[in-house]
Amino acid sequence: MNCKYCQSTNLIQQEAPPPHYKKLICGDCGKFIKWLPSPEKEIRLQQQKQLIKKLVVKPLRGWDGTFIRDLYIRLDNLKSLSTKQTAQLNRIAGNFDVEVVR
Ligand SMILES: [Zn+2]
Repeated sequence: MNCKYCQSTNLIQQEAPPPHYKKLICGDCGKFIKWLPSPEKEIRLQQQKQLIKKLVVKPLRGWDGTFIRDLYIRLDNLKSLSTKQTAQLNRIAGNFDVEVVR
């Protein structure tokens, strides 16, 4: 990854205020690059994405189908799921024989 301002590859992690975990800044021009998620959050998100991929091919009906397909379309841009969304995702997963992420 490069700095989009000066193309430097000298990117460094810094502590960030809550709710953020850390931030990535350019070591050369000092500009902000992006927020970094905590490792635990990132792992959980990846697991949830796997779950969405497994569910989108299932015969989902009504609101459940809309909910899962909507998440699936935005999968690459998904940063996190809300508590409510996680609960819905786990509920739908419970209707099928797929592993639920807690
Ligand atoms: Zn830079």
